[in-house]
Amino acid sequence: MLEQTAAKYPNQVAVIDGEIKLSYSELKETIDAFASVLYEKGIQKGDRIGLMLPNGIHYMISYYATQRLGGIVVQVNPLYQTSELQYMLDDANPKLFICGRNQAEKLEKIEDFENVHVIFTKDESNKDQILLKGKNCTLPPLNINPNEDVAVLQYTGGTTGRSKGVMLTHFNIISNIHQSGSVVSSVMKEGEERILGVAPLTHAMAMTNMNYTVRFAATYIIVEKFEVTKVLQTISQYKPTMMLGSPTMYIALLNHPNLGKNDLSCFKICISGSAPLPVEVLKELERKSGAHIFEGYGLSEATTSTHRTPVDGERKIGSVGIPVPLTESKIVDIETGTRELATGERGELIVKGPQVMKGYWNKSVETALTIRDGWLYTGDIAVRDKDGYYYIVGRKKDMVIAGGLNIYPAEVEEMLYQHPAIAEACVFGVPDAYLGEKLLAIVILKQGENISEQELLSWCEGRIARYKIPRAIEFREALPKTIVGKILRRRLVEEYKEKLN
Ligand code: ATP
Repeated sequence: MLEQTAAKYPNQVAVIDGEIKLSYSELKETIDAFASVLYEKGIQKGDRIGLMLPNGIHYMISYYATQRLGGIVVQVNPLYQTSELQYMLDDANPKLFICGRNQAEKLEKIEDFENVHVIFTKDESNKDQILLKGKNCTLPPLNINPNEDVAVLQYTGGTTGRSKGVMLTHFNIISNIHQSGSVVSSVMKEGEERILGVAPLTHAMAMTNMNYTVRFAATYIIVEKFEVTKVLQTISQYKPTMMLGSPTMYIALLNHPNLGKNDLSCFKICISGSAPLPVEVLKELERKSGAHIFEGYGLSEATTSTHRTPVDGERKIGSVGIPVPLTESKIVDIETGTRELATGERGELIVKGPQVMKGYWNKSVETALTIRDGWLYTGDIAVRDKDGYYYIVGRKKDMVIAGGLNIYPAEVEEMLYQHPAIAEACVFGVPDAYLGEKLLAIVILKQGENISEQELLSWCEGRIARYKIPRAIEFREALPKTIVGKILRRRLVEEYKEKLN
């Protein structure tokens, strides 16, 4: 893919990362040069290489250089601490690691780590960029079986439990680029777009975004970390035409005091994924940007994307749209997972398509439970309307049973987001002697807002069935989040359980 784009658009700017700007032909040369460094270090087809890098050109070069040799990119969250790294290292057993100095300090604390070869992307003393000055040698011909060979080991976000290594083949990745790309291709023009890269590249959603930037010969404008002022500066400097982010990223941008009236008007497309986009946020984003807002749904196990707002068809607020091309999608009963449910009935969403993973790395039991007869069981509860649009109700694992009644936190959060003072909300269940489980909420107020718990609870009355109203609401300054900005509900539940003990 990169070869084709570099051949067709050699002079188009491929990437801008701070001071560094490379055209597609320069990017390709740099990748080949770094691939030759890896080749000299003995990296061969099938070897796993850990990429523990923040967003930046170093990630892009390392990713494509690894794949140029048929190696497997192991996505390592750069925020991981030693215990998470230890688990990942034991599980994936990479032959080589590519990381920055900050990450290396955590790695050095790991037992047996001296046996792992590490390449640092930056030398502290002179900020020398080692990846950018490899020397070219003859690379071996690429011999890949796209259906079988794993390109990326994508560790899941760990929102619901221990992170699992998802094996994505070359075919999975290429398919999903075309599936996601085909949805926006009538709005995007090949060779002309500027795409803002703010979501962390070690997450599947951002990795796919980077890949379809290359596919569309667009310019990828990389921001190392999601810091709102930095992101706003980058937007005003480069006027990107497209952005992909999580709902919390959009919430942070929309609520920032520095956001000017027309600051987001450069965008033609804003895509939200990874978690539910509250309807109020969608409307405000649309008002302030004037862009097409697409909501995407998917999971690492399906490379990234399985459902998307259609570009030409009707857009239905609150829906994640229809399946992307070549994807079959059904709602089945939660208990057995075999009986297909009718329109309007809630059940587990299952999908089938070329983007569905080969399986979990080292986890055959979990693989057999998750992929049955070729169908991927997403663990998400959804409903389909008469026009074939899907609505995500919540996750099976997040469901709270209070007094025998099922409650999906996402529905309660959606209601809380309608309150004008609320910037973010997280609802979850904790054990309760009487009800079995009871519902709690933590909210973050918008700057300058002030409301009491009692006022908020009274406001909920009449807006949702009484049993879905949280028993208590706590106010906080921040919520724990994953690298992509998804709220870590599991951590809040654990925190509360500890308090109760
Ligand atoms: P783990 O699977 O380890 O708990 P994770 O859920 O963070 O981690 P991902 O693959 O990053 O792993 O996330 C996929 C999940 O994100 C989906 O199963 C779904 O619950 C949620 N999700 C993604 N997009 C949307 C969306 N548009 N609306 C609602 N939920 C979404």
